[in-house]
Amino acid sequence: MAEDFYELLGVARGASDDEIKKAYRRLARELHPDVNPNDKSSEERFKQVSRAYETLSNPEKRRNYDTYGEGTGGFGGGDPNDIFGQGGFGDIFETMFGAAFGSGYRGGRSSAMRGDDLSITSSLTFEEAVFGVQKDISLRVPATCSTCGGNGSKPGTTPTICPVCQGAGSVKKVANTILGRMVTTAPCDRCRGNGQIISTPCPDCRGDGRRTVDRNLTVDVPPGVDDGTTLHLTGKGAAGSRGGMPGDLYIQLRVSPDPRFTRDRNDIHSTLHVSYAQAALGVEIEIETIDSKELLTIPGGTQSGKRFSIKGKGVPHLKSRGRGDHIVTVVVDIPNALGADEEKLLRQIAEVRGEDVAHQKSGLFHRIKTGHF
Ligand SMILES: [Zn+2]
Ligand SMILES: [Zn+2]
Repeated sequence: MAEDFYELLGVARGASDDEIKKAYRRLARELHPDVNPNDKSSEERFKQVSRAYETLSNPEKRRNYDTYGEGTGGFGGGDPNDIFGQGGFGDIFETMFGAAFGSGYRGGRSSAMRGDDLSITSSLTFEEAVFGVQKDISLRVPATCSTCGGNGSKPGTTPTICPVCQGAGSVKKVANTILGRMVTTAPCDRCRGNGQIISTPCPDCRGDGRRTVDRNLTVDVPPGVDDGTTLHLTGKGAAGSRGGMPGDLYIQLRVSPDPRFTRDRNDIHSTLHVSYAQAALGVEIEIETIDSKELLTIPGGTQSGKRFSIKGKGVPHLKSRGRGDHIVTVVVDIPNALGADEEKLLRQIAEVRGEDVAHQKSGLFHRIKTGHF
């Protein structure tokens, strides 16, 4: 990639913007992949020329290039090849020529078509998501027809070469554009780009080469997945047509809630209700985690909302060793109905502590305070 951008475009170093634009248009028409299907050297040159134009058509980038050369400053430090990573030259090209070339048709034989990606949803219980599970999944999926082996012809017959494109799958078309007449290649209408015509279609798939079947899969769901995790199964989607690669299968996981637990990433949370006496005096209580029972010591004087952590009893890490924690949040329950004995004892406590309390729990004062009339 040491070639000089000005040389690539065939213009002088002092060329005007207009001269650069004209030179690029001329070269792009010559070298565009749609005009030269399957010609790697044209495609390579087209990319180089497009890169040169990308730089020289931008005043700031051109100034940088003139001063420092390619790739040293002015490209934000990135690999200059990146601009072509995701159809970059297509963007430049479309900006200049509009959609004259259609949408991404790259010419050549296209009889083998990759199958579609499929997306399904699968439900897991809370535990299954935490510890992983082998899940049996059944889905209806287009699969290669077993009768014709996917070629679409009735067994014993063979497809014939398309008389329109002579088997090429594409035809040259002349399009009138703002730049004048341009010769492009487009898929052959007669054979839909297959290059072949099925004279006697397979009776089971009607010539498509695929049939929808019920397929059962056993999917290994790893431990630590969560609601919304998507599993990607390469090649488990719809079969390709006429020998094309199969698509992929995406499984979106839905995790059912559990009445006992909630989850925050790799930590599992639960709530522990204790009485005010337990909170004040302390207590040892058995806690249920996702896979064990643990004795937790609640010290005297524990406030409502206080959290206790039981290490390593949470969700296994999806991509590394170890587990999250089980976190217990204490809720101190205040009784909403007191027996006569309880009330008497509580009043004694209030008296000892010098606290003011309502004299009768159903008295006038209480009713006004709480708004119950
Ligand atoms: Zn068939
Ligand atoms: Zn054809």
